[in-house]
Amino acid sequence: MKEQTLAIHAGYEKDAQGTMAVPIYQTTAYQFRDADHAANLFELKELGNIYTRLMNPTTDVFEKRFAALEKGAAAVGTASGMSAIFYAIANVAEVGDNILVAKQVYGGTTTLTGHTIKRFGIETRYFDVNNPSEIEQLVDEKSKLVLFESITNPSIDVADFEKIVAIADRYNIITCVDNTVATPILCNPLTLGCDVVVHSASKYTTGQGLAIGGIVVERTNLVEKIKGNLRYAHFNEPDASYHGLVYSDLPLPLFTLRIRLALLRDLGAAPSPFNSWLYIQGLETLPLRMRQHSDSALAIARYLEQHPKVKKVNYPGLASHPKHELAQKYFPKGQSGLLSFEVETLEEAKAIANKTEIFKLVVNIGDSKSIITHPASTTHQQLSAQELKDAGVAPGLIRLSVGLEDSEDLIADLAQALG
Ligand SMILES: *Cc1c(COP(=O)(O)O)cnc(C)c1O
Repeated sequence: MKEQTLAIHAGYEKDAQGTMAVPIYQTTAYQFRDADHAANLFELKELGNIYTRLMNPTTDVFEKRFAALEKGAAAVGTASGMSAIFYAIANVAEVGDNILVAKQVYGGTTTLTGHTIKRFGIETRYFDVNNPSEIEQLVDEKSKLVLFESITNPSIDVADFEKIVAIADRYNIITCVDNTVATPILCNPLTLGCDVVVHSASKYTTGQGLAIGGIVVERTNLVEKIKGNLRYAHFNEPDASYHGLVYSDLPLPLFTLRIRLALLRDLGAAPSPFNSWLYIQGLETLPLRMRQHSDSALAIARYLEQHPKVKKVNYPGLASHPKHELAQKYFPKGQSGLLSFEVETLEEAKAIANKTEIFKLVVNIGDSKSIITHPASTTHQQLSAQELKDAGVAPGLIRLSVGLEDSEDLIADLAQALG
């Protein structure tokens, strides 16, 4: 089936009531048929509901629908994008291991990988997403994951999937892509040879800034890369915390299963059924919305590019963007709603952010409501001048998340703010 059909129907089979809308199963627990049924569920002889920290019928529809849109084998929902990223890391790495992470990633991913997991004994080695061959100098036998973003937030770089995947595959390392900005509508990393995809569902998935959530999706046959692979011994040896279960022996998608059985069980960042229901509503219109976000962002980028006060516009849909060709190759249907542009000074940038009326001053992206952010005074305020330079954040840089208002109104708003 095509994506617009999947977005509306995938993963939902009506119960006896025939309910058209997916019901919200607002419950913590589920009654077993009898003691044997309960035992079978715990032993994975039968799959079924046990407790909402592990699974929930509403969340199940969200997971199945998202996996279908990402062309993956299975998915597991989490309480936030950050917990999805943490679980993807914690599922493969432990004390003494390292992970290879692109320098150009979301701020929370930078602090998670650069600070928090260091205290768990996991080292992060950073590579430039614009120069994937750096991975070759960083990799060793303790490397467990290559993590990068398809379209980077906030620097708006474009990942060269082919090059990154070729290196990771040579060393038999799992690749994990944060596909939040591109969404499964504009890019499917699993069809480009990547192994695992993570998302913040808080952004384009709800599409209206309604709830915090995340999801991890794995490709079909990921077991082929893991089975017998010494990097991932814990998937190939009996798991003492699950009475000797060997994940790579199961006929099930093992990466998300292990997140569910071990990490959701023990760490518990599970989505609320109500929030899963909100993501399901959002997914129904995601293909339509991503087309509009992309069209409006391109129109605005073109307008800004010819404005005398604008020094530079970063939007991969523009022919002038250094990654335009890669963007056409990997995001042919549109390049999403995120763009940034530079004016001369910090003062000028702040004045523009103060003057826009439709674009609201907020640190978020992927909302139907347009958003303006001045990174140097907010998200990147704590960085030194050199760190700002490395992160590609000039004092006069402004980031826009283009919403679903009429693009002519949005351009008029920027025109009056630029003066
Ligand atoms: C927002 C965001 C995250 C974090 O997601 P939360 O749902 O806010 O925890 C991760 N990656 C990217 C690219 C994001 O934009």
